Amino acid sequence: MLFKDIVGQQNLKNRLIQTVNEGRISHAQLFVGKSGFGTLPLAIAYAQYITCKNKQEGDSCGACTSCIKFNKLAHPDLHFSFPVSTNSSVKAKPVSNDFMQDWRELNLQKTYFDLDEWHEKIDIVQKQSLISVHESHEVIKKLTLKPFEAEYKMLLIWKAEHMNASASNKLLKLIEEPTGKTIIILIAEDEEALLKTITSRTQLIRVPPIAQEDIKKYLEQKEQIGVEKANQIAALAEGDVLVADEKLHYSEDQEMFFNLFVTWMRGCYEANVEKMHTWVEQVSDRKFGRERQKRFLEYALEVMREGMIRNYSENGLQRFDGAEGNFMKKFAPFVHENNVFGIMEILNEAHYHVSRNAYAKILFMDMSMKFANLLKVKKRTFVS
Ligand SMILES: [Zn+2]
Repeated sequence: MLFKDIVGQQNLKNRLIQTVNEGRISHAQLFVGKSGFGTLPLAIAYAQYITCKNKQEGDSCGACTSCIKFNKLAHPDLHFSFPVSTNSSVKAKPVSNDFMQDWRELNLQKTYFDLDEWHEKIDIVQKQSLISVHESHEVIKKLTLKPFEAEYKMLLIWKAEHMNASASNKLLKLIEEPTGKTIIILIAEDEEALLKTITSRTQLIRVPPIAQEDIKKYLEQKEQIGVEKANQIAALAEGDVLVADEKLHYSEDQEMFFNLFVTWMRGCYEANVEKMHTWVEQVSDRKFGRERQKRFLEYALEVMREGMIRNYSENGLQRFDGAEGNFMKKFAPFVHENNVFGIMEILNEAHYHVSRNAYAKILFMDMSMKFANLLKVKKRTFVS
């Protein structure tokens, strides 16, 4: 990770570089800030700079033997700890080492990610993850060895607030009595969640929100969007790259959700199994992703609610205008008092099951069959 590939944060980058150049590297440090501010990539770039054999003005060289290993996150003196849990391939006493390949893959693919995405990567969506005492034993083993190639052995602990008490206590000993040339960098969003005894023994590096101007430039370059939209999103991003990305993709998703919803309802209404099947394949694809499936179901709930309202009153929500509004006029009569409760229940249940890692293909096919029936239910009026 090179400093230049991290969005903004120039002041902090300069400060970190300066401590290395002046030989003031503290052996226990705590980087505090949101993931979207760049805490993890900054810590990695800092470690790479410390180890780089051909330091340039303001960055690592990216090409020396050390940098080449860092570029693959495979330097023998660079260690990581992060929250893990058991999954289908790691059945007991999970430690970071069991997941190192996934960790490298995700980091090489994305500069910015958060815990949800990490959980999804290692397939533990339904469980909590943590840094356990087994991890601390592993860490102690690694850090008591001499550095292989670099001057220091370095340990980066991502989401340090997820260490449990026994892991924290073991780590505390390591911080109090460092074994030779080691640098431990804790990365956390919430320093309050760490033991006071740990925070008081680490040098605090506060990672601030990214300047709005830098987020704007990032959006323009990476996401290739116009100045106006980049400005709009940057203003709402709270200095957080992950929030900026989410806001950007949200507006793109809306349009896709609408088209998906229309195709879905057509297939269901015609009770056309082939169309339903094609649709199910599309939304249950792994690339579509669980988070997006949830957002789609939320969208579907909103459309159903809106259909019901328009069916019984003149005033609908203004945000459903244009193509969505035209569709709504034709669709509304199909959502009424005799099926709306069933529809809402099915969508809510599906949302619950998607969060809990249900098998998407079965879930969406099952839902489609139920809708095929419900959309045929006639609207009746009570005769008193
Ligand atoms: Zn280098």
